[in-house]
Amino acid sequence: MRGQVQGVGFRPFVWALARRFGVSGEVSNDAEGVLILCAGGDLEGFEAALRLDAPPLARVDAVESRAAQVAEGEGFAIVASGGPGAETRVTPDAASCGECVAEIFGDGRRRGYAFTNCTNCGPRFTILTGLPYDRAQTTMAGFALCEPCRAEYEDPGDRRFHAQPVACPDCGPRLWFERDGGEVGGDALALAAEALGRGEILAVKGLGGFHLCCDATDAAAVAALRARKRRPAKPLALMASCEVLEGYAAPGEAERALLREAAAPIVLLAKREGGLPEVLAPGQGALGWMLPYTPLHHLLCAALGRPLVMTSGNLSGEPQAIGNGEARETLGGIADGFLMHDRDIARRLDDSVERITPHGPMVLRRARGRVPGTLPLPEGFPERQVVAYGGQMKAAICLVKNGQAMLGHHLGELDEALTWEAFLQADRDYAALFDHRPEAVACDLHPGYRATQHAQGLGLPVLEVQHHHAHLAACLGENLWPLEGGPVAGIVLDGTGLGADGTLWGGELLLGDYRGFERVGWLRPAPLVGGDKAAREPWRNALVRLDQAGLAEEAEALFAAQPLAALRMAAERGLNAPLSSSAGRLFDAAAACLGICAEAQSFEGEAAMRLEAMAEGSGEGYGLPFESGVFETAPMIRQLVQDGRDGVRAGQRAWRFHAGLAEAFAAQARALVESGRAEAVALSGGCFQNALLLDLTVKALGDLPVLIHRSTPANDGGLALGQALVALAGLESR
Ligand code: ZN
Ligand code: ZN
Ligand code: FE
Repeated sequence: MRGQVQGVGFRPFVWALARRFGVSGEVSNDAEGVLILCAGGDLEGFEAALRLDAPPLARVDAVESRAAQVAEGEGFAIVASGGPGAETRVTPDAASCGECVAEIFGDGRRRGYAFTNCTNCGPRFTILTGLPYDRAQTTMAGFALCEPCRAEYEDPGDRRFHAQPVACPDCGPRLWFERDGGEVGGDALALAAEALGRGEILAVKGLGGFHLCCDATDAAAVAALRARKRRPAKPLALMASCEVLEGYAAPGEAERALLREAAAPIVLLAKREGGLPEVLAPGQGALGWMLPYTPLHHLLCAALGRPLVMTSGNLSGEPQAIGNGEARETLGGIADGFLMHDRDIARRLDDSVERITPHGPMVLRRARGRVPGTLPLPEGFPERQVVAYGGQMKAAICLVKNGQAMLGHHLGELDEALTWEAFLQADRDYAALFDHRPEAVACDLHPGYRATQHAQGLGLPVLEVQHHHAHLAACLGENLWPLEGGPVAGIVLDGTGLGADGTLWGGELLLGDYRGFERVGWLRPAPLVGGDKAAREPWRNALVRLDQAGLAEEAEALFAAQPLAALRMAAERGLNAPLSSSAGRLFDAAAACLGICAEAQSFEGEAAMRLEAMAEGSGEGYGLPFESGVFETAPMIRQLVQDGRDGVRAGQRAWRFHAGLAEAFAAQARALVESGRAEAVALSGGCFQNALLLDLTVKALGDLPVLIHRSTPANDGGLALGQALVALAGLESR
């Protein structure tokens, strides 16, 4: 049996099934998955049940069976794993299962115990220190099992059979409450809930790192958290039980199912009027919610009975703290108290962020609960090993081995020194865990990216992959587009990435596949005046777009307080003003024209997210005529301004902007398919995390085959997967 079948209670499940169907033989883990030797009894029923009744965390990709010599009638045994390479698989961390939650709120010996888990739930990747996965190679190694726990651990009929982190109050990790560096005596959970109830901010040690936590209904507490964390506007994630959550949000069927998955991601849910304080996510249309996913969370949520802010415990821009000492040091100035425990976190993992779009689920940030899950490679790729290092922002590493791609966890922005350290650590860590020996490395074309420099220093063959080609390939790969599947029209709407011609690209229509591409169309380039500043200050993009559209006086009226003359001169002379076809910056320009974040945005994507949130309406999009490869932006900008003069509501203007982009790119992509040059259309790049843009583009493409991102991020978080596939395609043709 292949798939996610190790470390998820598969062997005891097989053992129990064998008894049920009167089958004798044995089960073991091997390098490819789970190997079952069986004879006698109801073999057909046994084989069918293997697929149908698999344990909750298992994912069966394939069952292959053939005749073998097996002795009949000698019982059924779970045997130690055989051969080299066995037990090399690790499953992602999983949210507490229903049975464990019932236990912590029940009367048994684990009542109120914050570290309850079983084979069907609990920590995995975040406590793993080495392979094979067993207790001695986890951060539970120092906790000796007590007799009752050992009995459960050794009983194949028990839910805790070989559950490596099994524990109880007598033998497992301990929880305590801390203030001013010292433990406060008493019930830690009650003390924490009281503090939260008083409006205090706590640091809470979780699964993949510390969270900063406060009462989400308390606007003053939330404002204090923002001020202390120096995070003025970036949305804060929330945690609440299902019942509490339903009082503030109205998740649909698919959203509810996603919230309840074992991965327990943060799910974006539409805001409801008059609910929670606006300061949680100023100007945004959605709030990020997750359900409690550890017993500690369940107990804390139950004790407070209100939604909690659960934002990552870090200083702005830095990675999340994972060690107790580290947390005291970095979070001491933010948190009034600490909810601490003594089970070490082996590996830092942020919460995953996902949303349900009109076209299904979409991963925005891939981390806890999803990693280290693997993705199968599309048909036609060789079984060779490569590693890819992604981009500079939203860094993530991708390893390819045995026909599977392992896209690592979200690391963050590599220009931050501590994130860079985390990147290097993740690189070593993944290579060791997966016994990875790449024959080539892939990276971005940008020589200034730290990941690119790292790739070039390894002494292996390096393949530099153009940024938007990598986005396209990632989308193809996720959709299992075969290596020989033929060329695809790629609409890549993105921030910026270095283009093959040395300018910055980001609003692209590409035609290609894994092996190569042709740049068919792009947004009229505009200068990014001030370089990086242009990404932070939307008015800079509005100024150059208005000037291009012959609306200089409009810019002067809108941004009178800004140094327009100096910027215009820099733009004209090309002083720190690189040309770019970025779609992200066009979003910024439109937002600034509508008065959204015109002066500055406090986090990447803020202006565009607000533009999406306010958009409402119908009708035709603004014109973006296509000529000789260029999508001309001036008519769009002129209509946007004219609508404003005509008193058209901002929401409608935002909607027409989205629709214009979608329609223009879809029309040209359609032409490529209809002329027989492309087989399908792929949508990638960070802008496609915008559900409205995605929906309008898919609709404009009508009945054409469309490939979109679902389980890998459309933004730079998915870049490494695309790079790896391009590199692999290159190895194959060599
Ligand atoms: Zn459980
Ligand atoms: Zn115990
Ligand atoms: Fe990108």
